Amino acid sequence: MKVYNTLTKQKEEFKPLREGEVRMYVCGPTVYDYTHLGHARTYIAFDVIRRYLEHKGYTVLMVMNFTDIDDKIIRRAQETGEDPKELAEKFLRYFLEDMKALKVKPADIYPRVTEHIQDIIEFVKNLEEKGYAYEGSDGVYFEVQKFKDYGKLSGIKLEELRKGARVEPGEGKRNPEDFALWKKAKPGEPKWDSPWGEGRPGWHIECSTMSTKYLGEQFDIHGGGNDLIFPHHENEIAQTEACTGKEWVRYWLHTGFVMVKGEKMSKSLGNFVTIRELLQRYSPEVIRFFVLQKHYRSPLDYTEEGIQHAKNNLEKLYNTIENIRIALEKAEIPFKWSKEEFELYEVIREAKKKFYEAMDDDFNTAEAMKPIFEVANAVNKYLAKVEKPKESVLRKALEFFKMVGEVFGIFEEYFKETKETKEEKLIELLIQVRAELRKQKNYALADKIRAELRELGIQLEDTPQGTIWKRINV
Ligand code: AMP
Ligand code: ZN
Repeated sequence: MKVYNTLTKQKEEFKPLREGEVRMYVCGPTVYDYTHLGHARTYIAFDVIRRYLEHKGYTVLMVMNFTDIDDKIIRRAQETGEDPKELAEKFLRYFLEDMKALKVKPADIYPRVTEHIQDIIEFVKNLEEKGYAYEGSDGVYFEVQKFKDYGKLSGIKLEELRKGARVEPGEGKRNPEDFALWKKAKPGEPKWDSPWGEGRPGWHIECSTMSTKYLGEQFDIHGGGNDLIFPHHENEIAQTEACTGKEWVRYWLHTGFVMVKGEKMSKSLGNFVTIRELLQRYSPEVIRFFVLQKHYRSPLDYTEEGIQHAKNNLEKLYNTIENIRIALEKAEIPFKWSKEEFELYEVIREAKKKFYEAMDDDFNTAEAMKPIFEVANAVNKYLAKVEKPKESVLRKALEFFKMVGEVFGIFEEYFKETKETKEEKLIELLIQVRAELRKQKNYALADKIRAELRELGIQLEDTPQGTIWKRINV
């Protein structure tokens, strides 16, 4: 398997540090606003990378941070008059809800800055002791020129950084390129005690601290959007490698931007569409499918037509899966295979190979889509032509769709292990109605529902977590 490494600017053979395991860290959001499609693209991309690695048999340990204290959060809280902590908490919850809705598998660990202040302080102290950090009037800074490999990720040169740059009045740093590890508190800002007085961490230091805390001093993958290469990831490397003296991350992966009319989708430009808005118009799988139609490193143009197109394509695949299911009901025991079965078999065999080749080539989901449609077309042709389809070859097609569905996070409805039956949905509905009736103090009717359900062999039990039900013998 090959992955493109931003650090070496080439595709490399993927070899994790420990056999059979991949430790990965993805920079999480700064939680001060709703998640938009740009963020979602990045997190869906890493979700599919993680799913594929798991599919290949790796044990994946995935960590994603929450920046829950930061200039942007403080500024937004000042604008809205909210408490910064509550504001961050609210958007953190919304983010998790959005990711769940989009079927992005949760990270194994979600460290938050505000719960790791002491770890961050230790990290900064360590840098200070090693001579890479110094205290200025308004904070503690990392002295960039001390780290000889600075620029190795982004290719930026110290001289370029210095051109036209200067230390602004009021800034306590020695050189314009130095960046804050710790910011001394201004009046009214959230703050924590530290050896340098009250204050809060700079942005970059959190990722160095929290990733190494949970994944060790060396790990396999670190990712984020393209805009994080510089300065965020460049600074993360400088801090971490200065601290540990070791090469830190093996593979750096970066996603391309979601673009709107030639510009990056971003909060600051106001050209964004939130996941919540999109989910009112499109299903989560349509959004995933839209995102995955492009390779994760390419820019992705957001247009209504683009999403509509993805929706139509996905529906074609749903129809095909549905057709297979219907056909399976009347499919024959395969005493014989004829030319048609062998033709379809060949398409599936080839498609599976192509799917793996594409995904093994730097997780190229755009290429991996093609064989999916080849199978869909071949299945539909087969079903149109053959009067008595054969079960075995249809099962192979279905298995193929199930496999790609697991990797892409689509087709979930068709392959659910336990399909919630209509009956179960109706019971849940009656439980809700009963709860409403009890709220309105209509106990007679509420009890009637409970009694009648009991007669049907469904027993309701009220627990502190809500009403649950079980089947009983009557
Ligand atoms: P932020 O909360 O701004 O730090 O962003 C969280 C993640 O989303 C980072 O990895 C960003 O690079 C990524 N991101 C933000 N905007 C876009 C966009 N328009 N397209 C792709 N990724 C983005
Ligand atoms: Zn980060």
